[in-house]
Order: sequence, then structure tokens, then C-alpha cells
Amino acid sequence: MDTNDISEENIQSQTEENPQKVVEPKVKAGKDKKPVEFTFWRGLQTVLVAAFIVASLFTLWTPGSLVESGLEAKMAQALESAQELGGAAPAVDSEEEARSNRIGIVAGHHGSDPGAVCSNGMTEAELNLEIATMVQKLLVDLGYEVDLLEEFDTRLTGYQGAVVLSIHLDSCEYVNDQATGFKVTSALSAQDVAGSQRLVACISDRYANITGLPYHAGSVTDDMTYYHAFYEIAPETSAAIIEAGFMNMDYRFLTENTDVVAEGISAGILCYINNETIQSNNNP
Ligand SMILES: [Zn+2]
Repeated sequence: MDTNDISEENIQSQTEENPQKVVEPKVKAGKDKKPVEFTFWRGLQTVLVAAFIVASLFTLWTPGSLVESGLEAKMAQALESAQELGGAAPAVDSEEEARSNRIGIVAGHHGSDPGAVCSNGMTEAELNLEIATMVQKLLVDLGYEVDLLEEFDTRLTGYQGAVVLSIHLDSCEYVNDQATGFKVTSALSAQDVAGSQRLVACISDRYANITGLPYHAGSVTDDMTYYHAFYEIAPETSAAIIEAGFMNMDYRFLTENTDVVAEGISAGILCYINNETIQSNNNP
């Protein structure tokens, strides 16, 4: 993957041309905070509503009123007025539920550039898309809401979901005899570091077990660690990037057993979402 090519020269020459221009302070910080505050107030609201309901029920729940036929009606009334006060309590639950049921799969380079191009014309983008589409189908069949995303998909901005995983493949060129296998990494910038690390461990473990491909240690690049999508999505969304194999030595496996590749990836995502235990030691 070679997507981020920020030219330092450009930045430098711009600065030299406008030496008088003072860099404006970032007003953005406040904007970035918003979702957190939002969640906090919604959370507080839920707590208050719950407290109100409990308080109302306790008031009603005297031994005398227990046998009253109107108890149910009173409970309904209490719940109703609580809803009028707090309003959003059930919505918070369903929002959270929707978030935890949503998965974003980025088909690397798709919609942007071909990525690695092999001598037979096969492109990394093409194969990434095939894998990503299969992963999407496997997870949709299990009831998840899965967004198949382009490399620079506008939906990545502020993306809220349980997981965002970007799928890439390594070079078509022969590197050396050890250039086989996969690697997975998460964002250094992640807010939920533990969550993202567990996502990486889950994917590494399940992918190695199901595909039999080795973990190719020591070749995690800056392109992976500083992957652009990590900075675009909502900070509470766990994210990782996988280089699922080398398009040289693993070419036959990747193209002839694409379904196994997809199965390994989706099993890794499910391991994370379902909080499954990781038995083996395949993680980096
Ligand atoms: Zn790539």
C-alpha cells in the first residue's frame, strides 16, 4: 500500500511564500469533542430517567397498592411521564445497539488507485475488493450491518461502529523466500487502545489458524501504522489494517482460496465483537 504521499517540499514552500501568515489556532478541538459530550449527556439522561422510573415505582409499590387493579395503569403512567421528561432513553439503547452491530470494511485502494499491479494484470485493488465483498457477505448473513467502503470513502469521517478493518495485500514482486504471510496492526492514535490491540490479536489469531498463513513479523510499515483512515473515524471505533498476504509467494492461495481468506478475516472480527478468548500465540 502506498497511499499517503504528503510532500514536505510543498508544505515548506508554502510556508516560505507566506512568512507573515500566522498559523491560526485550531478551533477544531471543540468540534471534535462534541460526540463525547453528546454521549455523556445522553448517558446522564438515561441515568436520570432510570432513577425517575425506579423512584416512581417505589412510590407506587406500597403493600396496599400492590393488590390494586390499577397498578399496571399507574406503572404505565409513570413510564410515560418519565419518557416525556427524558424522552430519549430507549433511543440511546437502540443507538448503542446499532453502533455495536455496525462494521466497516475498507477494500484497500478501491475507488482510488490500483495498488500493487502484477505482471498478469491482476491488481491489489481488485483482489482486495473481492475479499472485502466476501467478508461483507459472511457478516451480513450473521445479521451485522456491514458497510463496504472505498479507500477514501467519505463515510469514514466520524465513522461509528464496532470495528473498521481495512484490507490490503503485499507486493507482487519477489522479495525473498520469507516474503509470505500476513500482518495486522492498529492505530497508535486510537482512543480505545486496549480495544484496538485486542482486535489485532483476534484477527491475527483467527486468520493464522484458518488460512495457515504465517504472521510475517517485522514488516509493519509506517503506511500501516499511520494509516489515514485511523484518523478519520470516530475515536471510539476500534480499527485495524491487515495485509492479508503477499501477491507473489501467496498469490495462488489468495486467488484460489479467496473464500478462506475472507473466512479468516471475518472470524477475527467476530472474535473481537463476541469477546472470544484467544488461545494460540499467533499475535504479534
Ligand atoms: Zn495496499
